[in-house]
Amino acid sequence: MLKISQSAYVSLRQHGEETYSHECCGVLLGHFEDDGSKTVSRVARCGNTRADSPHNRYNIDPRDLIRIQREGRERGEEIVGFYHSHPDHPAQWSPTDLAEAHWFGCSYLITSVEKGKATITNSFELTGSDEDDKKFVDEPTVIV
Ligand SMILES: [Zn+2]
Repeated sequence: MLKISQSAYVSLRQHGEETYSHECCGVLLGHFEDDGSKTVSRVARCGNTRADSPHNRYNIDPRDLIRIQREGRERGEEIVGFYHSHPDHPAQWSPTDLAEAHWFGCSYLITSVEKGKATITNSFELTGSDEDDKKFVDEPTVIV
């Protein structure tokens, strides 16, 4: 289960509206809880480096990721997931999304942005042990 603060939830959905008709992307910061759930307290917005195909691809600059990880650690937060938007496409993961996901145990949030308006946000947890058996599992999301 993913517990996400209202402000983080609003922020990541607004990000998708602001970058429409391009995909937005960013990082979810918070904590892994002992019961297996995750808490998101903050989101870090990233630029989409996929200039070749920004309407249906996203990529977070590795230098951004390192900086976000370091700044999070200084606040006692960990990277617990990632988010991106699907302009005029359903909030379901694509084969490319799975191929490019590498953080096991992390959540991958996808927001559908229809005609510039954020609609559904779904969360998927990346499970498995390596690249060959990894898969996305539907994950319930609660706004706290
Ligand atoms: Zn996607």
